[in-house]
Amino acid sequence: MDKLKRKVMNFMRGRYGADQLYNALIITGMVLYFLGATINFGVLVFMAQLLIFWALFRVYSKKTYKRAEENRKFLKWWQPQQKKLKLLFRRFKEMKVARFRKCPNCKTTLRLPVKRGKKTVKCPTCQQKFESRIIL
Ligand SMILES: [Zn+2]
Repeated sequence: MDKLKRKVMNFMRGRYGADQLYNALIITGMVLYFLGATINFGVLVFMAQLLIFWALFRVYSKKTYKRAEENRKFLKWWQPQQKKLKLLFRRFKEMKVARFRKCPNCKTTLRLPVKRGKKTVKCPTCQQKFESRIIL
């Protein structure tokens, strides 16, 4: 067992390993794979295999600088998306108690308590007043 461990460690020495881009590629690959297999769409399965292959290639790559650069670019793109996703989940979770509206003046997202009908809202950031209408 120890011998195998040493062998694996030797093999992994100097190799890049997993990072956030690796996780994203594997997760996207798995989702696409299951989706493609379920609806019997070969192109999706093929794309999924490419993504997973790319992820594995990056893990075992010895060009660590290049891989880190790829990950940095990925994070720069992903972080704003992640923020949007988090807000979307929050909106869904708080649907019964709050609505999220953008201030037309400064574009700040405001969290408003649910009260049906028209209402004048004052933005706490820029003090601008605007009308908000909650129908449902
Ligand atoms: Zn504002």
